[in-house]
Amino acid sequence: MEIDMDVKNYQYHGKQRLIYTNNSPDVLNNVYYHLYFNAFQPGSEMDVRSLNAPDPDSRIGARINKLKPNEIGYIKVNSLKQNGVDLNYQTVGTILEVDLAKPIQPGESVTFDMRFEAQVPVQIRRSGRNNKEGVALSMAQWYPKLAEYDFEGWHADPYIEREFHGVWGDFDVSLTLDKNYIVGGTGYLQNPNEIGYGYETAKVNRPKGKTLTWRFVAANVHDFTWAADPNFIHETAQVPDGPLIHFFYKSSMPKENLENWKRLQPKAVELMQFYSNHIGKYPYDQYSVIQGGDGGMEYAMCTLILGEGTFDGLFGVTAHEMAHTWFQFLLATNELKHYWMDEGFTEYFGELAGSHILNYSFRDKTKSVYDIYRYVVKTGREQPQTTHADRFNYRQAYSISAYYKGYVFLAQLAYIIGQEHQEKTIKKYFKDFAFTHPVPNDIIRTAEKVSGLELDWYLMDFTQTTNTIDYGIKDIAGQTVTLERLGLMPMPIDITVDYTDGTSEDFYIPLQMMRGEKPTNATVLADWAWAYPTYTFQTTKPIKSVEIDPSGLMADVNMTNNKK
Ligand SMILES: [Zn+2]
Repeated sequence: MEIDMDVKNYQYHGKQRLIYTNNSPDVLNNVYYHLYFNAFQPGSEMDVRSLNAPDPDSRIGARINKLKPNEIGYIKVNSLKQNGVDLNYQTVGTILEVDLAKPIQPGESVTFDMRFEAQVPVQIRRSGRNNKEGVALSMAQWYPKLAEYDFEGWHADPYIEREFHGVWGDFDVSLTLDKNYIVGGTGYLQNPNEIGYGYETAKVNRPKGKTLTWRFVAANVHDFTWAADPNFIHETAQVPDGPLIHFFYKSSMPKENLENWKRLQPKAVELMQFYSNHIGKYPYDQYSVIQGGDGGMEYAMCTLILGEGTFDGLFGVTAHEMAHTWFQFLLATNELKHYWMDEGFTEYFGELAGSHILNYSFRDKTKSVYDIYRYVVKTGREQPQTTHADRFNYRQAYSISAYYKGYVFLAQLAYIIGQEHQEKTIKKYFKDFAFTHPVPNDIIRTAEKVSGLELDWYLMDFTQTTNTIDYGIKDIAGQTVTLERLGLMPMPIDITVDYTDGTSEDFYIPLQMMRGEKPTNATVLADWAWAYPTYTFQTTKPIKSVEIDPSGLMADVNMTNNKK
């Protein structure tokens, strides 16, 4: 792509040459592009949904509806050719529908040449001009982006509110803009010594003129994002045996915020090391933490975050967004369909890394996450995790499902198959599925292969239904304990019995449909088959008290009957 940006009126012109290979076994008769910036227009689906949603995002609210023509976002396609032949196309909201001149055969590569013009909207959601901290350009979802076609067909989802899914590709992007602007983003800068601004590797030799052209190259990414501002400070920190991390933040921030950004740098190095050790090695030589956007949002090789909060806030958002690198960028689960595998796993690893680096209790954090999941169950507004991200009635129910129930899925997996097997599952999942857009079955099959246990019931009940877990202690009579299953969802049971002589014993009741047991030091009892509502076992000594799952990792929605 060659982009010519006018930083005064926020308009830009682009030329895009896309060499597209049909790696599917199907003949393609049309293609679709996303034109995300068209969402920022009065009457768009994003606008109307926000006006009608019971709990809209306060960042959107009724703001899109009030945008003037010179404040809206748009991408207008002026011409499009397939192998030199002009194509018919139609803009339908945020999607460009394209009729092909000739169908694309399996294995065939075609070249699409496009010319377009666009306007950067006032910053409302994720990208835009002049965000609330004064960053001039936050450029995410800013170019005509080919939709993904895979074994499920086309993913030409309109941009309503939720997130993204993209095609892997090699990007070569030249950005021409005012020479006083400093750019950070996806990709390696190819002409650092014509640019300077901290990128140079030798004496800087800038071409004459009012603009500079920044040429970035990124191989095997599914997105290209950048931000630019004339007041960016650009600093770097090297991760030993890892990437160079770039930081871009505004020099005009208050002094304490500038200090936070200095303190963040060695911590970001530790985060990168933690994720590389616990999930899999980061395969690029560069990662950038850039002030921009409206909160925190993850992109290929970079993140855009707000930069003026407390140090803990700045660290927390960096920890979360950097963890996304593994789940949103490198694994690249469809964020519209399987958001919980992205946000949930990211939230889990963000907190795991954060608790390790800032020395707080991961167990306490996890407990609070389980309580948030229990809260949404109680509201009655929960929808299954198979619901499309845009089709949740309540935004809060989406958020809890994606971030917190997704987190619980992974934490509870450690309860079901054992901590060691859960850790192995994550590493194998990343190793086997990086760069492949994995689906839910891929994580559960990986857990099955690692543990040797049958786990399809876990994926089905926990993610495809709103069934809940509720086991209770029904009765203790002498040395006989009777448990009951009150919720529909099955679970294996860890149970601890305190005896009157001051000793205690751990028991494990395998779930019959798992066809095996997790590794455990507990006394293994007979299987509990799901359909039986109660289960009875004997102890060898007089009982003082009994507790189901002292680890708290089973997401039982009613804890009042777990101890007796
Ligand atoms: Zn996230």
